[in-house]
Amino acid sequence: MSKIRLGVMGGTFDPIHFGHLVAASEAASAFHLAKVIFVPTGEPWQKQTITDSEHRYRMTQLAIAGNEHFDISRVDVDRPGPTYTVDTLRDIAAEHPNAELFFITGADSISQIGTWKDAEQIWPLAHLVGVTRPGHSLEVPKSPHGAVSLLEIPALAISSTDIRARVKAGKPIDYLLPEAVIDYIQQNDLYRSDQGTK
Ligand code: NAP
Repeated sequence: MSKIRLGVMGGTFDPIHFGHLVAASEAASAFHLAKVIFVPTGEPWQKQTITDSEHRYRMTQLAIAGNEHFDISRVDVDRPGPTYTVDTLRDIAAEHPNAELFFITGADSISQIGTWKDAEQIWPLAHLVGVTRPGHSLEVPKSPHGAVSLLEIPALAISSTDIRARVKAGKPIDYLLPEAVIDYIQQNDLYRSDQGTK
């Protein structure tokens, strides 16, 4: 029986935006993925101040609603302690034993894989897809031959950091992320100050 090809879209998603959604869609097309599972991080490694994981999970859920090729997982949000990709992939593999996994995330992050926990144990678990912003060249990390692919995504000119700064400055964020996520940010008063972060 041939294995189902699944994307695992890891990220902080603080907040999720159209760049992430386009990247998932492009990766699905390029690698013939049946589905892409969005996996918001719990406590991201090496990061101090981020929005509570339940807010980031809910925004991601709102953003992917209605797309039957997108799904969401709580594995990283529910696992206590820092989020490590090796754990993410083991948990998703356990839930989908007949799947071939493609871990999709920012290429900046993948370029640091040498510093990740149990990096050498990641290679047998998934093919890695690093998505890049236009004009950003990237060094492919030391990895087994063919284990990492790069995909340039023009829509990734949008960034979560920029969106948070715009909200804080009172600037518009229309057309950068789904309306349901904009409404959620407003209703929960996220990013206007240090509120909503932990
Ligand atoms: P990040 O520092 O928040 O993001 C790095 C860059 O990649 C940013 O430019 C970000 O843009 C972009 N990016 C992040 N996720 C993306 C996605 N899914 N699609 C497109 N662009 C994305 O990185 P992070 O979110 O903390 O980590 C990304 C993933 O790598 C997570 O699943 C995390 O658990 C994993 N990771 C694992 C380890 C480890 O195992 N030790 C260490 C680091 C990261 P935006 O800001 O616009 O999103």
